[in-house]
Amino acid sequence: MRIVFLGPPGAGKGTQAQRLKSYLDVPHLSTGEMLRDSADTPLGRRAAQYMSAGQLVPDDVVVGIVVERLKDGDCANGCMFDGFPRTVPQAEALDRLLSENSMPLDLVLALDVPETDLIARLSARGRPDDTLDAIDERFRQYHMLTKPLTDYYRSRGILRQIDASASPEKVFEHIQHAVDATVSSNSP
Ligand code: ADP
Repeated sequence: MRIVFLGPPGAGKGTQAQRLKSYLDVPHLSTGEMLRDSADTPLGRRAAQYMSAGQLVPDDVVVGIVVERLKDGDCANGCMFDGFPRTVPQAEALDRLLSENSMPLDLVLALDVPETDLIARLSARGRPDDTLDAIDERFRQYHMLTKPLTDYYRSRGILRQIDASASPEKVFEHIQHAVDATVSSNSP
């Protein structure tokens, strides 16, 4: 099973992917986390400049780390993408990469949360890029570059909208339903 988590900053993609990881037993690939983990490398230092300003890291950098990660054996039976793709070119690169490896994408979970709730969640989190200016910029980038991916995946019939404004437990129930429905529609 291969799943993309789509949604604005603070929607709970990471939290839900972490829960789904034990349910599905597939790895959780967070590009934000991978970039933060590479902070001591030249690539990571380059990325950090964009991240602290709330801007997206260039597509080629992000696609490059995903290409490498997908080669790991634990991704053979599936994985969850959290925070990737974030632009149409990244989605196109992912499509190419997955089809070259005969790895179908099964489901895109679009987490919906009202923007006022998101700002409260992010301000409470306190990561270095959770300053008000950086948060503003991340929303701007989200609307401009990432939101169009909803239509991109809707047109393929693999998009499921999830109301993610409820408690993490409730949201996870919605996600489990969507995943279970996909599993049963995929099985012969
Ligand atoms: P959030 O979802 O709260 O914004 P992430 O950890 O997913 O947090 O991302 C943090 C930052 O990492 C982003 O603001 C961006 O600078 C960078 N980043 C993560 N994933 C991508 C991506 N797919 N493309 C470009 N930049 C990314």
